[in-house]
Amino acid sequence: SPNTRVAVVTGGNKGIGLEVCRQLADHGITVVLTARDQARGTAAVESLGRLPGDVIFHQLDVTDDQSAQRLAGFLNTRFGKLDILVNNAAIGGVESLTPDGSAPGDDKFKGMDARQRLEWMRNNCRETYEDAKQGLETNYYGTKRVTEALLPLLLKCSSPGRIVNVSSNFGLLRLFGSEELRRELDDIENLTEARLDELLAAFMEDMEAGGFAKAEARGWPAGGFTAYKVGKAAVNAYSRILAKRHESASSLLVNCAHPGYVKTDMTTNSGILTPEEGARNVVEVVMLPDGALTGAYFAEGAQAPFV
Ligand code: NDP
Repeated sequence: SPNTRVAVVTGGNKGIGLEVCRQLADHGITVVLTARDQARGTAAVESLGRLPGDVIFHQLDVTDDQSAQRLAGFLNTRFGKLDILVNNAAIGGVESLTPDGSAPGDDKFKGMDARQRLEWMRNNCRETYEDAKQGLETNYYGTKRVTEALLPLLLKCSSPGRIVNVSSNFGLLRLFGSEELRRELDDIENLTEARLDELLAAFMEDMEAGGFAKAEARGWPAGGFTAYKVGKAAVNAYSRILAKRHESASSLLVNCAHPGYVKTDMTTNSGILTPEEGARNVVEVVMLPDGALTGAYFAEGAQAPFV
């Protein structure tokens, strides 16, 4: 029926994204489960089985402009609109970071409990320049690219289109050492997308000049996962800018959701919550009533500050 709501989930083939797809379809929503890899994506759709809402696969690599445009074209032809976009796809940056080149989940983690694994990752997962570049490209620019490609379809809905960006407590501004960066990234009245790009370019210059140590010394987040933290902080700032731009027309709700610390491949299964529980913290934000908050951050379902 034309009243059926349509949702797109990025990185829907596993982890939190897959469970978000299941829960949205449980609400009777038609879900377009996207994945960068066709085989992994179609297998994920099959794994969900029959649900109240349809689940359809479409390819989407968030780092690929043409892939995003193909998805927009498909949605336009098939539905002529989009009600919900969940930007979930991201990389942790851990894969290439292990000093001996082995992947997380390998033997080195055997015999370590979840806390020891996390501690090991904190101490060892320091991004290189290339990691940082790939991290921002996927986690921030990927989110922005998909959002821009699908925005016209989200604005075509009769009720406000909804975007939920899966963010992280790693994106909170309190993690930035520099007071000036914290202030500028929190000053949504004056921050622009162009200025955000400039700040990210400055971060990449610091990474190029002296790696994460230099970046930390310049006030970018310390304690490992620097580029991941910068990328999520940028997603938060962008979400707030976008929300503000569409606030008066009430045509779009844009919010950020921290799912909690979740057992997935990204955390080498070292989390506390199951993917289903993590996804519930995202889906709750998707299902907020019309006229609800926009430009807000939700940590495990509860509204919280960005700082
Ligand atoms: P997973 O690693 O399990 O899943 C990540 C998903 O993103 C996979 O489907 C992956 O696809 C996809 N992906 C990666 N790169 C791309 C790309 N270029 N194009 C399309 N899809 C891509 O991680 P989680 O489920 O844990 O993470 C989901 C979200 O939750 C992320 O945004 C993450 O930052 C956030 N988050 C997770 C936390 C946790 O504790 N797990 C905590 C806070 C936030 P593929 O299988 O092809 O690699």
